[in-house]
Amino acid sequence: AKNNGRNNSAWFENRMNTEFRFRRKVENGIRHGVARGEFVPFYQKQVDLETGELVGFEMLARWKSRDFGMVSPDTFIPIAEKMGIISDISERLIKQALKDALEWDPKITLSVNISPIQLRDPWFAQKLLRLVVENGFPPERLDIEITESCLHDNIAAVRNVLVSLKNQGIHVTLDDFGTGYSSLAQLRALPFDRLKIDRSFVHEMSRQGGNTKLVEAIVSLGAGLNLPIVAEGIEDEDTLATLRAFGAMKGQGFLYGQPEDARKTLELLAATKPS
Ligand code: C2E
Ligand code: CA
Ligand code: CA
Ligand code: CA
Repeated sequence: AKNNGRNNSAWFENRMNTEFRFRRKVENGIRHGVARGEFVPFYQKQVDLETGELVGFEMLARWKSRDFGMVSPDTFIPIAEKMGIISDISERLIKQALKDALEWDPKITLSVNISPIQLRDPWFAQKLLRLVVENGFPPERLDIEITESCLHDNIAAVRNVLVSLKNQGIHVTLDDFGTGYSSLAQLRALPFDRLKIDRSFVHEMSRQGGNTKLVEAIVSLGAGLNLPIVAEGIEDEDTLATLRAFGAMKGQGFLYGQPEDARKTLELLAATKPS
């Protein structure tokens, strides 16, 4: 048994070392990836559910890593947050996105995801506004998506940040709505322009015999708070029809399009331009 115990701890240490080295490799990859410009914005269509008209794009980050291939933001964003370089990566992505969006029809909006870590930075609002001004981007065309986890932070501080952005015309969406623990009081305390219902609810609804009641309740909660609902993860016509019947205003999902790079996005726009 003694021998076995030693082997176990050796195995454990080995494993820890391997994980530690892998982690190190990923972190170095991220650091070099920033320098090499491997983080790029992709864009997914957002449409008016009533008319089907294209109204905006959500920027979704991609890491085209030399060592790891295409890495999903769900993987690299938590690591970048822990490394303390999420703000740096996000600012570069937003800057590129503003430039890209200036090539689009001026009616089309740009939504960007903001990490709770960024919102905690007391200079966040100034930094974002500076990017907007320096790039000559109309602030009304920009929408930031923040998640419910921000509501666990100092609400007064978050509120100040959002109010200063809104005073300049930037819009604010509460993202992944329903997955966190926001209370109605918190929802009302912050100046949101709309709620984005998380795709997990939309998928649950579209399952055979799935539950639509929850989605209906979330949409009417939004209506009660005077906040339009955006639905994500719309993959089929039936789901679209149900969401429209409930009164969701805008939506996105594979039914309309996958996230695409800047060049493909421009091609899409050229093809959908009204004649
Ligand atoms: P999210 O903000 O909830 O974005 C929606 C996710 O659903 C995206 O995944 C999108 O590609 C995916 N999606 C869109 N339509 C459909 C559909 O019809 N069906 C299914 N199954 N999925 C769909 P993605 O691009 O992998 O992004 C994952 C998450 O990473 C995002 O979730 C967002 O929270 C985060 N993220 C992405 N870019 C950034 C960024 O620049 N900054 C920060 N802080 N977070 C980001
Ligand atoms: Ca989002
Ligand atoms: Ca979501
Ligand atoms: Ca999310």
